[in-house]
Amino acid sequence: MEQGFSTRAIHAGQEPDPATGAVIPPMHLTTTYKQDGVGGLRGGYEYSRSGNPTRNALHEALAALEEGTTALAFASGLAAEDTLLRTVCRSGDHVVLGGDAYGGTFRLISRVLSEWGLEHTPVDLDDADALRAAIRPTTRVVWCETPSNPLLNITDIERTAAVAHEAGALLVVDNTFASPYLQRPLTLGADVVVHSTTKYLGGHSDVVGGALVTRDAGLGERLAYNHNAMGAVASPFDSWLVLRSLKTLGVRMDRHCANAARVAEFLAGRSDVTAVLYPGLPDHPGHETAARQMSGFGGMISFRLRDGEDAALAVCERTRLFTLAESLGGVESLIEHPHRMTHASAAGSPLEVPSDLVRLSVGIEDIEDLISDLEQALATVGGSPRARG
Ligand SMILES: *Cc1c(COP(=O)(O)O)cnc(C)c1O
Repeated sequence: MEQGFSTRAIHAGQEPDPATGAVIPPMHLTTTYKQDGVGGLRGGYEYSRSGNPTRNALHEALAALEEGTTALAFASGLAAEDTLLRTVCRSGDHVVLGGDAYGGTFRLISRVLSEWGLEHTPVDLDDADALRAAIRPTTRVVWCETPSNPLLNITDIERTAAVAHEAGALLVVDNTFASPYLQRPLTLGADVVVHSTTKYLGGHSDVVGGALVTRDAGLGERLAYNHNAMGAVASPFDSWLVLRSLKTLGVRMDRHCANAARVAEFLAGRSDVTAVLYPGLPDHPGHETAARQMSGFGGMISFRLRDGEDAALAVCERTRLFTLAESLGGVESLIEHPHRMTHASAAGSPLEVPSDLVRLSVGIEDIEDLISDLEQALATVGGSPRARG
């Protein structure tokens, strides 16, 4: 019988150490491996950029969680994205990406890889006609982030995969916001899953990392070749930290989801908040799709303030428990202003985000404390707790 998610998260790739019985796989801080005669490698290990037992354990665990066959761990999410794009695209090729892709993804494609001749079109991916219209004969990749950052838009993965495949393109899904606990894009038809393991997979705001997962064996081989040849691999320590964190992913995500649902409900009841972007709310345009393709709505919420950018900035500065910081997905709650912080690199582009928007990464603290913190911060900017009409 197929094991459940949390059983795989705790055990896949993480058998007790055969030499000592250590229950937790040791961290192999070594660059090189003794050879038993020239070419006599033990377990295939030769040099730690090419292979390291701690990183390999993480590969196995990530493949099991995303229901893929090849997983590769990188030094950051953007390193994973760069390796993927330079593996599957050539000069003159074209990428269609969601109109509110992560700012760093947009910057990599539009500012860096454009210099090597990669072309791109941002599009509203949930508009299948707009997606079809944006696809060219040279389109190699459709790049989708769902839920998206920071607008929490939802894209139907199955439908987008069908449109991409019709055109001979790959569907890449950035699964950072949902994590494999809530959504498994490969099983819904995506070709490659991208992660910033810095976020929910790491989960404790102490490691920067990235990952690629696929179930296409040929593509997996090409990616693995470039993982080593391009060299942006995850270190043994970073790999060990992510492995440690994966064990609690399920329980953490359950709590993130439960807390975020309560915060979204609280914000939706306020007159100084003009919009709450959370796919768990029944009036969210992507609610039904999210309910179908995810097993929970995640821990990320964005909201817009009636009193504009000044009010948004003030709320970000006045919370006490929600820490003003970039990043997301850790056990502690964070607050930020995407327009000036995480998405500043999208200013003036089609991916620019509204300036009255505040983004929350809802942590796993006690919910009453989180809500009273938001309540006091909103009150100090002149907000009214009265329910909206
Ligand atoms: C953070 C993030 C990335 C980039 O990952 P890094 O680990 O910061 O390089 C990519 N996609 C999403 C959705 C992210 O939140």
